[in-house]
Amino acid sequence: MRPRIHPVFLPFAGCPHRCLFCDQPSQTGVGVRPLAVIHDELAAMLSRLFLTHAPPREIGFYGGTFTSLPAPWPKRFLELATQYKDKGLITKVRCSTRPDAVTSRGLEQLKGLGLDMVELGIQSFNDEALAQSGRGYTGRTAHWGCTIVRQAGLKLAIQLLPGLPGDAPGTFARDIEITTKIKPDAARLYPCMVLDGTPLAETWKSGDYTPWSLERTRQELAVGLGALWRAGIQVIRIGLAPEPGLDKRILAGPHHPSLGQMVRSLALFDHILLMAAGLGRTPVELRYPERYSGEISGHNAELEPAFARLGIELRTSWKYGQFLLR
Ligand code: SF4
Repeated sequence: MRPRIHPVFLPFAGCPHRCLFCDQPSQTGVGVRPLAVIHDELAAMLSRLFLTHAPPREIGFYGGTFTSLPAPWPKRFLELATQYKDKGLITKVRCSTRPDAVTSRGLEQLKGLGLDMVELGIQSFNDEALAQSGRGYTGRTAHWGCTIVRQAGLKLAIQLLPGLPGDAPGTFARDIEITTKIKPDAARLYPCMVLDGTPLAETWKSGDYTPWSLERTRQELAVGLGALWRAGIQVIRIGLAPEPGLDKRILAGPHHPSLGQMVRSLALFDHILLMAAGLGRTPVELRYPERYSGEISGHNAELEPAFARLGIELRTSWKYGQFLLR
């Protein structure tokens, strides 16, 4: 079950600079606005949700560097969220930030104000990819950020951005391996896209950057996703959320509206092969609840031929997934 998270976007707020690949307004569908306006809109929305007995939800402060917001904004946002935690509307509060923008003391203070989880925009643990992407920190700092989030007693999510400039074969696999060792509570996978108006768009236009192809992304993310699943790490997002206007801003990169399903179904396919191999006899049929059709047979049933080549017929059933042996 994925948590119900109400996002509050604070585009670029607290960011030390604009990263090469980042265009928060098109990624979040929200323009840059004063924090006071965002705060007041959030207060009005929470009041409305409470009065209409809306179901409980988490709240996530995204799109900027929450731990570097100027005072008194982290406190004001968290106090507002805590007010509605006390009323039962908000269950948890999370924020996104950079690994070089957290300190043990700062995190403890934020936890005391009601913060529950930190999503670290790690992007990669690889020094070369981090340097060529101008992130301004090293893999060691990224690791340290994860450590102190945990030490502060906060839950941790890791965001990875495969295919950054400076990426080399094996970089993402290594990032996944490190992530499984850190074992965060959740992960997000955002393959690097070329968005109009970003410095990366200029690099791409000059021919100095080539994004991953869709097929490479599908294959590498499926392997990575399988490893994260086996480590018990919940993957809460694959690819950019389909915000209005985003499509028009994408110049290049592995964008597909069903990327998440394509990756999940391929990871499941590999998992099913592993399960089938352990049976001792070749299964002839795989039955699964109809609502999982897309997850099993893939986007537009793209995996059906692969199952057919193995002699496994796909059938929906009201029961839990099962193999039929003959
Ligand atoms: S990637 Fe993160 S730190 Fe960089 S500009 Fe975007 S929101 Fe700010």
